[in-house]
Parts: sequence; structure tokens; C-alpha cells
Amino acid sequence: MDPLKALADAERKPYWLDSPARPEPQARLFGHTTADLVVVGGGFSGLWTALMAKERDPSLDVVLLEGRRIGWAASGRNGGFCMATLTHGLANGLERWPEEIDKLERMGVANLDEIEVTLRRYGIDCSFERTGELHVATEPWQVDALGEHLDLISDLGLDYVPLDQGQVRAEVDSPTYLGGLWERSGCAMLDPARLAWGLREACLRLGVRVHERTPVRAMDDDGTTITLRTPHGAVAARQVALGTGVFPPLLRRLKHLVVPVYDYVLMTEPLTAGRLASVGWRNRQGVGDSGNQFHYYRLTDDNRILWGGYDAVYYNGGLVRPEYEQRDETFVKLAGHFYDTFPQLAEVRFTHRWGGVIDTCSRFSAFYGQAHGGRLVYAAGYTGMGVGATRFGANVMLDLLSGKPTERTELRMVKEKPIPFPPEPVRSGVIQFTRWSIAQADQHQGRRNLWLRALDRMGLGFDS
Ligand SMILES: Cc1cc2nc3c(=O)[nH]c(=O)nc-3n(C[C@H](O)[C@H](O)[C@H](O)COP(=O)(O)OP(=O)(O)OC[C@H]3O[C@@H](n4cnc5c(N)ncnc54)[C@H](O)[C@@H]3O)c2cc1C
Repeated sequence: MDPLKALADAERKPYWLDSPARPEPQARLFGHTTADLVVVGGGFSGLWTALMAKERDPSLDVVLLEGRRIGWAASGRNGGFCMATLTHGLANGLERWPEEIDKLERMGVANLDEIEVTLRRYGIDCSFERTGELHVATEPWQVDALGEHLDLISDLGLDYVPLDQGQVRAEVDSPTYLGGLWERSGCAMLDPARLAWGLREACLRLGVRVHERTPVRAMDDDGTTITLRTPHGAVAARQVALGTGVFPPLLRRLKHLVVPVYDYVLMTEPLTAGRLASVGWRNRQGVGDSGNQFHYYRLTDDNRILWGGYDAVYYNGGLVRPEYEQRDETFVKLAGHFYDTFPQLAEVRFTHRWGGVIDTCSRFSAFYGQAHGGRLVYAAGYTGMGVGATRFGANVMLDLLSGKPTERTELRMVKEKPIPFPPEPVRSGVIQFTRWSIAQADQHQGRRNLWLRALDRMGLGFDS
């Protein structure tokens, strides 16, 4: 179908948030109050931090402040790939922290297992399906790259299954596939908005005071108490945890460590049984193709296909703006790629199109830290892979607040910070040139130009 026609009736909003299950917002904060711990941000980072703070110490008085609605930002509009990796993929982790990679992988799998257990404990129904992820190659150089990846990780004893062209097409049938790698247990599919709302409900049950539509505008510290000021009130707290993602930070030092990158997604109508059978997909894995500019796609519980990625857009100036959540040029491109991948679905239409902002940092995997004499902590920079890893980041923040070293806080990955991005306007120039170079690499059998190789040597990069 012509992509323009296929998109004609697609709503301009995130499919997941467009649901009757969306709860009414909790009341704004009015007046002054106190708390042991204030968590700022009602995405996964903030929700996991508030929940696990109460689980660790039920007597703790915890307040969560969210500027808009719980889960409205990245957490409620992502692909719903809940991954074990804590390092934005194994290859990135192996390159940066080789001596820790065994431990990081083990901790990542434990984190994913614990997410599954938590969902059961609180009865959170977010269509969690531990199907794994299928990495597919659509160009010969990507087949080689997947093979090299397998060699690299063969000592780690991970559950990866290499698939030749016939085998990968027997899983998910696309004429574009040349081979694949099925990472069987390190990834689950879920409905991210229902996860956020379920975590909110669990927080409320444990006694967290949640205030939505309550942006924190300023922060003062008198040396023992940190006061967070909101439009109609304030909270004076002993400790503060920031889970504010890529939004204008309350802590100046975060300003140069994350940049907003927009990522775009389409959702199809539900597939009929016949159309689904034409693709196969009986094991319902999440799928990612293996270019530098990659697509990610998956089935929902009612057998729609979520189809996202490829363009990772940095808008010069680095602002977060509602109008950036829609980009027709990208939607048309994505729809075209969808039909190239699944020509048997040529009559399928799209019901939703949306974009969201990713907190990108130069090492791709999240970083953690403390300020105000250890009474304030933060975690950010998940670079498009935070659905699972934010829970680990929340645990790091709580460990840091406890003041006692733990296995997590002793990791080099946790102690080190990413290299900052240069200030604007140099930042825009550097990022746009890097994006161009990445697109060029995909068009030239993955060959990286001098600029990308120099960035690789410095351990720097740009990703979504
Ligand atoms: C389109 C898209 C697809 C993605 N796909 C995947 C995927 O498949 N798998 C994966 O692992 N990751 C994915 N991600 C990334 C993932 O969604 C994020 O890493 C994760 O949700 C980050 O959670 P967070 O809580 O840190 O940030 P956010 O969800 O951005 O939440 C931050 C919250 O803080 C609030 N806030 C900020 N400042 C203030 C303030 N001053 N006062 C009060 N509140 C404030 C904001 O309103 C917001 O609600 C995707 C992201 C996008 C955008």
C-alpha cells in the first residue's frame, strides 16, 4: 500500500497511552510538606526508586513528584523491549568494561528475573512475555557482523542461537532476511504504559505519596534539608533521587551529559489470523535488524505490529519540544521499510504514529552519581534501552543513598561518567556529522569512516 494512504487514519499519539486503562492523575501538590525521600520523575526510573525504597524500608516517608502524568514520556511510549543488558548491549559493555562483563551480565539477568517476580507480586498485568530478541541480518556484511558477535561472546555461556537464512525465515518470514541470532532469554516484551501504571498502583499501595502535574521548578539546600519547589507548594526532604530523564535537569552538571534524541514509531491495526500466519512469528520474539540505523519491531497482545527506529533525530539546539514528537518524513520512510520487510502485509494499515525523546549519552549506557554531600542521587543516559535497566539504576540510587558500598556501587561502570557533549552550536555540528557518517557506513557494507573510527578509539559515539 502507498505509505501515505496507509498512514492516513493513523492517530498522532502513542498507542500504549491511548488506552482506557490509563488511570486518573493523582492530585497536584498543594502546600508545604516534608519527606524522608523525594523522588522526582514518574517514569520507570522514579517509579522503581520509590517502590523499592518502600520495599527496603516500609517506614520511610516517600513522595514522588511528576511534572505531567505518570509514564507520559519515554516510559509510556517505547517499544516495550525489556532487556537484561545493563550496558546498552553486550558488545558495548564488553568493549568498555571487559573485566566486569560477566558480573554485569549476571546482574542484568537477575534484574530481569526480579522484574518478572515483581510483576507477579503486585499483580501487574503488562502482557509480559519472555520471548527473547531475534537479531536479523538484511545485508551480507550484517551476517558477518552477527557471526563475529557470536565468536566474541562464545565464552560467556549465553543463550544465543545462530540461525541461517532458512531458520530465521522459519521464525519470522521476511524475504529481506539473510540470517539471524536469537537471544533467547535476555529480553521480554511488555506493554510499557501498563507497566508504568502498575508500578504507580504498587507505589500507592505501599504508601508512597504520588503527585502528578507537579513539576519541580527549583531546589534549595540548607546543608541538611533539600527543599523542592513546585508551582503550588514545596517538599523539604532529607534525601532526593532524580529520575528526570532528558528533561532540563535540576542539577547543572547533568546538562552536558545527556542530549535529547527523537525516535519514531508506528503501530499497525491487529493482524488477522491469516495475515499473522503469513509471517509465522509463533515464538513472538522482539526483532531488531542489524544496521547502524536499525528497526525494532514486535507483536502486541492483540497481534498488531509495533514498528520503530531507524531515524534517530537530534534537533539543532537540543530542545525537548512537543512538536518534535511528530515527523511525517520519518513516518512515511518507516511505513515504506515495513512493506519492504513484509510484502505479504501490503494491505495492513497503521492506527498510530508517534515519537518520543531518548536520553542519549556518549557511552550509550546509563550513568549514576551523587551530589549535595551524598543526599541527592541521579541516574540517566539510558540511550534507548532503559525499560529494564532503570530498575537496576533505581537500585544503584538507593544503594548510594544508603551510604554503604554494595556490589553495584563498586562497579567501574557505576563509578565512571560519560564524556560530556560539547556545548552548542558545536554539539549540533558534531552530532549531525556523526549521524551522516553512520548512514554512510550502512550504505557501504558497514565500513566506518575516519570520523567514526576516531570516535570509536575515544570510546565515544551517538546512538538511539
Ligand atoms: C520511542 C522510544 C522507544 C524506546 N524503546 C525502548 C525499548 O524498546 N526498550 C528499552 O529498553 N528502552 C526503550 N526506550 C527508552 C526507554 O523508554 C527509556 O530508557 C526509559 O523509559 C527511561 O525512563 P526514565 O524514567 O529515566 O525517563 P522518562 O520516562 O523520560 O521519565 C522522566 C520523567 O521525569 C519527569 N520530570 C522531568 N523533570 C521533572 C521535574 N523538574 N519535575 C517533575 N517531573 C519531572 C518527566 O515529566 C518524565 O515523566 C525507548 C524510548 C523511546 C522514546
